Amino acid sequence: MSHSPHDARHRARHQATPKPRRLVAGLALPTSVAVALMFCATGAAVATSSKAQSAGFGQRAATLASPRTTAASPDALGARHLKEIALAQAVARDSRAKTVARDVAVVRAGTVARGVERKKLAARAVEAKRAARAVEAKRALVRSWRLPITNPVKTSGFGYRWGRLHAGEDFAVSVGTPLASMSTGKVDFAGPISGYGILVRIRYWDGTISYYGHMSSVSVNKGDSVDPGQVVGRSGNTGHSTGPHLHLEIHPDGGDPVDPGPWLTRHNIAS
Ligand SMILES: [Zn+2]
Repeated sequence: MSHSPHDARHRARHQATPKPRRLVAGLALPTSVAVALMFCATGAAVATSSKAQSAGFGQRAATLASPRTTAASPDALGARHLKEIALAQAVARDSRAKTVARDVAVVRAGTVARGVERKKLAARAVEAKRAARAVEAKRALVRSWRLPITNPVKTSGFGYRWGRLHAGEDFAVSVGTPLASMSTGKVDFAGPISGYGILVRIRYWDGTISYYGHMSSVSVNKGDSVDPGQVVGRSGNTGHSTGPHLHLEIHPDGGDPVDPGPWLTRHNIAS
């Protein structure tokens, strides 16, 4: 039985402890809150946490704390802490919002940049098409054909007459009528020559050579480049001629003369 008093005393001491233990457990949250506040609050927090653990230390802490801060209750401190948490959360939300806004701005900038790039490409494509059309139009113009005169009146055709070849077609035109180049080419001859009188010969881009005979004057020199429709001289009645007219000969590839009629038809410039 010698153990009984000891056990009783021991139990009694243990039985006496539950109350403070519950008190400590009950104050677990305020204590942790208070400890957390130690980093941002005044000595009041230290006083509060101390008070929860030990009355003796609490008294000592209370004497260390200022009267103003001692007045703050654990509830008030908890509320302040909650406010700080709310503030931190608000800051975090604001930060996230800013990040999202920045990401959106980056995406928008990228979209705008891509849009600008697409527009540039489209503009370049349009410009390339326009340039290609211009090149094609110029090429078509360069290779176009036309008659030396407008409203031609044919007076004599290609063929043999009195045993002699009439190597071209004659068109009735008054003296001084402007005569135009039939296409793009180079002047092969310009000046007087037996039989033809004043003659202009032009070699065109496809090798064809035309003769304009019986002219009254020339306005180009041998070697000159000429464009379609460019005036190269004026009609007349020079050389072996019985009246004002244009004698037109066509020499494909610079070879023998052919009947201009079918050739003009093939080139869509028949009279
Ligand atoms: Zn003739």
